[in-house]
Amino acid sequence: MGSTAPTQLTTNYHMHSRFCDGQGEIAEYVQQAVALGFTSIGISSHAPVPFPNTYAMLPDQLADYVAEVRRLQAEYAGQIAIALGAEIDVIPGLQDYYTATLLPHDFDYFIGSVHFVGNDPHNGLPWEFDAGLDNFLRGLNDWYEGDFRRLAEDYYALARLVPHFLPGVAIVGHMDRIKKYNTVYPCFSEDDAWYRDAVEATLRTYADAHIIVELNTAGWRQPIAEAYPSPWIVARCFALGIRMTIDTDAHHPTYLAADHPRALALLRAVGYRDLWVRRADTWLAEPLPE
Ligand SMILES: [Zn+2]
Ligand SMILES: [Zn+2]
Repeated sequence: MGSTAPTQLTTNYHMHSRFCDGQGEIAEYVQQAVALGFTSIGISSHAPVPFPNTYAMLPDQLADYVAEVRRLQAEYAGQIAIALGAEIDVIPGLQDYYTATLLPHDFDYFIGSVHFVGNDPHNGLPWEFDAGLDNFLRGLNDWYEGDFRRLAEDYYALARLVPHFLPGVAIVGHMDRIKKYNTVYPCFSEDDAWYRDAVEATLRTYADAHIIVELNTAGWRQPIAEAYPSPWIVARCFALGIRMTIDTDAHHPTYLAADHPRALALLRAVGYRDLWVRRADTWLAEPLPE
């Protein structure tokens, strides 16, 4: 701890780069983080997956990715702590693939996220529900026959798998991502009892697992215009004693502190007084900045 209490957030564990669907070199994210006065960050490109896609790191890039983060850890030692992470997709059946490809690299942590629900019956590939409105509507209206409740309940069943999906999953990514298009194509109300029940069951899983849930500010930059998760869910997280951190899901270095004040205000408003961060290779709670 420094001699003065921090006045702003100095951590962020969710950021991409040109290794996956982000822009910029990892070194540029690190330089920007240092310029912002950050003390602890995690690099979290989308881990390779064994099917065609447009967002994830290519399998033959993984070794270079790991080497680049390790190189920067050494170069910036004493200035900023850099954790080697990856955002993994919670897709049943992929555990063996991840175990073989990721675990040998001794990652510091994983973010577990659900971007896929079931398979596209037309090609048999995992269906990426959040990859554009047209793609979302194709799945919703085609094989879900317009039944958003069934889709959302399938989504949250997958979300409940996050904590134990792979050793090293420390953070739940954007836990209510399924709401992404609900302003441009309204499907449901977050006040619907069935929706609240699905969220509540998921949160209880996270509380039991002592996993960290991120307050992901990316939603504030998207049409949904709301953080992931929504404020009422953040309030339920507090009531259930769930550990939270604040991440920005930056796909460009300029977003490393995006909406930090707003996120801090939200955590404070629901009662949080501390935040989970990574210090000396351990996740621990620290007082929220003033
Ligand atoms: Zn994600
Ligand atoms: Zn991400």
